[in-house]
Amino acid sequence: MFRETVLVGAAAKVVEDEVGTTTRAPSQPAKTFDAFGRHIHYLRISLTDRCNLRCVYCMPEQVTFRPSEELLTDEELFAILHVMSRLGFDKFRLTGGEPTVRPGLVDIVRAIAALPTTREIAMTTNGLRLARLAEPLKAAGLTRVNISIDSLDPQKFRRITRWGNLHDVLEGIAEAERVGLRPIKLNAVVIRGFNEEDVVSLAALTLEHDWQVRFIEVMPFADVAAFQQAAIVTTREMMTRIEAALGTLQVENEGKLDGEARVYRLPGARGTIGFISPVTAPFCASCNRVRLTADGTLRLCLLKDGEVDLKTPLRNGAREDDLEAIIREAIWLKPWGHDLAEGVIPMNRIMSEIGG
Ligand code: SAM
Ligand code: SF4
Repeated sequence: MFRETVLVGAAAKVVEDEVGTTTRAPSQPAKTFDAFGRHIHYLRISLTDRCNLRCVYCMPEQVTFRPSEELLTDEELFAILHVMSRLGFDKFRLTGGEPTVRPGLVDIVRAIAALPTTREIAMTTNGLRLARLAEPLKAAGLTRVNISIDSLDPQKFRRITRWGNLHDVLEGIAEAERVGLRPIKLNAVVIRGFNEEDVVSLAALTLEHDWQVRFIEVMPFADVAAFQQAAIVTTREMMTRIEAALGTLQVENEGKLDGEARVYRLPGARGTIGFISPVTAPFCASCNRVRLTADGTLRLCLLKDGEVDLKTPLRNGAREDDLEAIIREAIWLKPWGHDLAEGVIPMNRIMSEIGG
């Protein structure tokens, strides 16, 4: 059942001894923990590995997508989500690939909203289709969106995304804000030679808008790793560039993480600036999430190859209780953190296949 040896070994003994990692008192929602005592209740769902862009830091231009019969059907997805809800999962994020290219997206959101434990449904999107989809998604129960935008310069934006049109993304942001998918968060991956100067104009958006602009250190994956490692711009460098142009960044939330971001504010700004630093300042200690890939595996750490296959048992007729036991055991074995500092790079998938 376990695909990667990383999941077995010392911790497997613990599982034999302690099967109950989920606590569920009568009439109280369940809570699921890993072996390090982290409460795991956030599922990021990759709805598809397909995308209508080809961002240079995410996938090769000549990428090959999985055949559709390998991807979870809606029914299979709902069966897994039902079990996740039984395990107390209350926060869901739709991602991909590009989640807005998945057929039936609005119905999927509606189904997640109907789960008894759901508190929040967010989506990470490139924004190209949001002008049309924001309103029905909001009506179906989507809570908020993160929209990727790596530059405000149309030419640079096109160079990074290989064929994206900045105007479509700006329209998507406006519509998401209009329909109330708030707080609006914008994601920018910063890549040497492509957009490192653009952190200033992107950060300046927060002076006028009540948005959170988040800068992300690029992470290495599989075939794209050599480029990603050569192109990394550290959070420290981003902060230095922003402060030199726009003033001192003041720490927000008393320095506590907002999800995976450390949050700051420019003097007098309406919005905030987040830095996500998986490479130079990992946030593994507070990790509360696992990922479901579009082809039906549970990935326990973004930056580690260990995964548990859920699709095969499902297609072989596993009952809900069986699936719950598989998932509970897998979560117990969630690795403490990644090993990028030791030079260990995830090799089995690129970012768009995992669900960033
Ligand atoms: N297509 C959607 C989008 O671009 O927002 C959702 C999927 S994308 C994989 C999710 C997030 O991961 C985006 O903000 C994207 O910029 C980021 N991302 C992609 N590849 C990355 C990498 N190698 N390192 C860090 N972030 C990456
Ligand atoms: Fe597509 Fe998102 Fe990857 Fe860009 S980052 S190629 S939009 S999945």
